[in-house]
Amino acid sequence: MPDFTAHRHPVLAVRCPDCGRAPGIWCRRPSGHMATDFHQSRKMEADRVFIDQYGPDASVERDGEGWIIDPRGRVGIRPQPEQMALF
Ligand SMILES: [Zn+2]
Repeated sequence: MPDFTAHRHPVLAVRCPDCGRAPGIWCRRPSGHMATDFHQSRKMEADRVFIDQYGPDASVERDGEGWIIDPRGRVGIRPQPEQMALF
């Protein structure tokens, strides 16, 4: 199971579908240079796996030098359904 708090960045928890770097290894450009950002597909994959593991309400937050999972971190920022009118 990917550990989103074990690496320098939560996205590093998953393998990159684009350049194939293993968990914990930063993305590389085709030239072999270290990329400044992760591939978009890896960020989407990390998102998908994270929601799979922790649910849509959870978020991962910076905590000093590390990361923590907040199980309700996304509750306040998601749009709430309109309250239904009774009449
Ligand atoms: Zn990559």
